Amino acid sequence: MDYKALAELLFPEVTETPEDMEARFPVRNYPENAVITRMAPSPTGFVHLGNLVQGLTSERMAHQSCGVLFLRVEDTDAKREVEGAVEVLINTLKHYGINFDEGATIDGDSGDYGPYRQRQRAAIYHVYAKKLILEGMAYPCFCTEEELSEMREKQEANKENFGYYGKYAVWRDRSIEDIKAEMEKGKPWVLRFRSTGSIENQFKYNDLVKGELTITENDIDQVLLKSDGIPTYHFAHAVDDHLMRTTHVVRGDEWLPSLPFHIQLFKALGFKLPKYVHIGPLMKMDGNSKRKLSKRKDPELALTFYKAEGFPVEAVYEYIMTLLNSNYEDWRRANPIAPSTDFKFSPKKLNPAGNLFDYLKLCDVSKNEIAKMDAETVYSRLVEYTEEFDTEFAQLLKADKEYAVKILAIGRGGKKPRKDLATWKEAKPYMGFFYDKYLEAPVFEEKFEKELIKDVLNKYLAAFDFADDQNTWFNKVKAITEEIGFTTDMKAYKADPTAFKGTVTDVSTFLRVAITGKTNSPDLYTVTQILGYERTCERVKNAINSL
Ligand code: GLU
Repeated sequence: MDYKALAELLFPEVTETPEDMEARFPVRNYPENAVITRMAPSPTGFVHLGNLVQGLTSERMAHQSCGVLFLRVEDTDAKREVEGAVEVLINTLKHYGINFDEGATIDGDSGDYGPYRQRQRAAIYHVYAKKLILEGMAYPCFCTEEELSEMREKQEANKENFGYYGKYAVWRDRSIEDIKAEMEKGKPWVLRFRSTGSIENQFKYNDLVKGELTITENDIDQVLLKSDGIPTYHFAHAVDDHLMRTTHVVRGDEWLPSLPFHIQLFKALGFKLPKYVHIGPLMKMDGNSKRKLSKRKDPELALTFYKAEGFPVEAVYEYIMTLLNSNYEDWRRANPIAPSTDFKFSPKKLNPAGNLFDYLKLCDVSKNEIAKMDAETVYSRLVEYTEEFDTEFAQLLKADKEYAVKILAIGRGGKKPRKDLATWKEAKPYMGFFYDKYLEAPVFEEKFEKELIKDVLNKYLAAFDFADDQNTWFNKVKAITEEIGFTTDMKAYKADPTAFKGTVTDVSTFLRVAITGKTNSPDLYTVTQILGYERTCERVKNAINSL
């Protein structure tokens, strides 16, 4: 076969050479241990936790080593593309603190190794396609969809491996005349790799996460370019990561089965193989068994979910770090206020089998993060959240900032701060009663007579003095308790509950329900101090009237 003639026949318009490409995208001038890596998502409009796991891993590896993190948009599959998806992607990653040094941006590209959107790189791939044809390592295939499905059926019936290989690779050795004839008929073709691998051969390969792998050579003539001239993931991966001078490829382990082909392809193209960091999947418990998080079944896979629930970004970040590096939690305990970037991240510590995503653990981490913030910060973050997700509440918060900050300051600071909130969404159920608009009508326990509750509330009104300190206030509550024949001796009550009509806890609950509409609230004395004398009295009076 005259490969030169074939290369000219298939790519007459390609005049540039691989050497031209090497000159256009020179080797980066970085120290040897600097990690040059990328995120290479497909713009499907769906940004998920897996993207974040991969993104944080690449970001840490790049920036910790004073290397480069760039964003490449893998838009070769036009069918899966959704309008506006690149914006969603960039904004979401930015929201989670993943900042790129170069690559695709909302307004275009930034950096010397672009274009960073693969469809715009077609001419670059064609240079290497032509090179492979010239060297006898690629050829066109005119098989139709029907022919390929027939092939598959045959392989299934014969219990053979699937794919275009051996006797099934029917276009592998066709003459240039046959090829010309099909082209003249206007038949579409794909470009296939001519594999020289054999499944009889195995070799060892070291993945940074998975460790030593035994790889079986690829014997399939995989597609390099689709019939529209756009590359498959495999070909684009090899060409782009070589020319963009990627040193480490961090990606999901769903790509592991393609690794034999990638290793083969890099070699055929004369490229140095990058290091691979194959990340295991995120799983969750489903009953007693683990399964991969699924886009269809698990809303918590989408990153938009965490924003809408109101998880602070730093909480999600902290949680993901605890998942990725098991020593992160200990480090955090020893360095409670250090920036997380001080932690020495290691891809080698990633669990090769993937990680179990634990929503409750995330909530705990988040409670800690929110507990660390001061009231002013909580206020501004809550306003930011409610402005997007609950504008009515946002209005109330903004109408009296001082009041809101006082509420949010309850139990904050000190050695043991309260950990009421895991998300900003929980703020309204937690503190809404401070706003008359969200105050729920009091509902008292039925086992106590209404007259008795009324009596307690009236006594409270008579005794309530706004100037009382916490102790005096509580002594008054205790006095009322004893007046109505309930006990303040909780020990005695616990020893024999039947000996008492009720306790000081019951009395406090009457007051709490009357004042807050709830059986649970932060410290009631503090609540009354924030509500003020008038509003507290008014609420108690309304409760009396409702009985
Ligand atoms: N576009 C591929 C994906 O979204 C990228 C994999 C990679 O990082 O190489 O899975």
